[in-house]
Amino acid sequence: MELLIVEDEPVIGKALRQGFREAGHNCVWAKDGDRGWELAKSQQFDAIILDLMLPGKSGLDIVRDLRLEGIRTPVVLLTALGSVEERVAGLSAGGDDYLVKPFAFPELMARIEAVCRRSGMRPAPTVQAGDLSLDLATRRVVRGGHEIDLTPTEFSLLEFMIRHAGQLVTRKMLCEHLWESDWEGATNVIEVHINRLRGKLDKGFDRSMIQTIRGRGYALRAS
Ligand code: CA
Repeated sequence: MELLIVEDEPVIGKALRQGFREAGHNCVWAKDGDRGWELAKSQQFDAIILDLMLPGKSGLDIVRDLRLEGIRTPVVLLTALGSVEERVAGLSAGGDDYLVKPFAFPELMARIEAVCRRSGMRPAPTVQAGDLSLDLATRRVVRGGHEIDLTPTEFSLLEFMIRHAGQLVTRKMLCEHLWESDWEGATNVIEVHINRLRGKLDKGFDRSMIQTIRGRGYALRAS
């Protein structure tokens, strides 16, 4: 799954990020409400784990504004002990479930899975951009009816790019996604992988799927 954590407490944020990664999920951690809101409305997530008390835009405002914008991503709220009114307000603003801090990680995971099931938004089995589609369960990649064989690294790069289709993706972002680091030499390694990936995706097609944005990075065509 692709998860968004919006949480300002470093200890909780770090623990959640580590837990999700160990469970095999991708996650992005926003440390304040403004950043959380930006991410929640501009990227596609399978679920959002949202603290209510945040610097910047509050959790309550985030969930309410998401629903006002028609964004149905399941939201699990994290609340402080005893704040019944806060919980009620969060749920009536459009939250799907809540968990009172401190909580056990397995319980949070179970609740995320439950809200995803209920909303019928099981992790999108396929992601698409233009004539390109990725099946995340079978890891099958198809462009215009042609199946493309990718290495796990190429698949991971492409999955990241397709989730940011039409946006600038820097080499640094790709490094962090692949290796959780941005060491200097990685830039060249990324370039090699991207060139190979581009060769495979574009074989037999006139239009290149991946554009190079000189000196900055790449962008995958959204259509
Ligand atoms: Ca907080």
